[in-house]
Amino acid sequence: MNRTADTVAATQERSGGCLCGRIRFTVKGKAAYPHTCSCPHCQKLGGGPMMWWAGFAPKDVTWTGESEPTWFETFEGEAKRGFCPHCGSRLAAIDSDVPDLGIVVTALDDTSGPDLVPVNQSFRDNAVHWLPQVPDTQNSPVG
Ligand SMILES: [Zn+2]
Ligand SMILES: [Zn+2]
Repeated sequence: MNRTADTVAATQERSGGCLCGRIRFTVKGKAAYPHTCSCPHCQKLGGGPMMWWAGFAPKDVTWTGESEPTWFETFEGEAKRGFCPHCGSRLAAIDSDVPDLGIVVTALDDTSGPDLVPVNQSFRDNAVHWLPQVPDTQNSPVG
């Protein structure tokens, strides 16, 4: 597959899944607003100092494995996080005020896409001091 530094075909399909393989998915097209997040939820749920997110339109995300994520509501009626109940892998997030489905980039089989490079870091105030922060290259209002 050929792709240049900043173009990802709208038809490009990528696969991903959880660690145990019960949950698999594909995403189609270019990722929207790839970013890291150091909010308390990402730290607690992700098990690390930050999580790495990218957005895809819900219609471009297809669950293809033997099961779908279990959803945990982090803010009831507003935000929920999807994970595999068998192996615990984090996979996705749905926020009521964001049209895209958030995909945990590390759940993808190939994380090298140029459209996955974070353009910002959310919740900088809660970031650990010993990791460099992601520059805001998109001047996004988020974070
Ligand atoms: Zn699993
Ligand atoms: Zn977060």
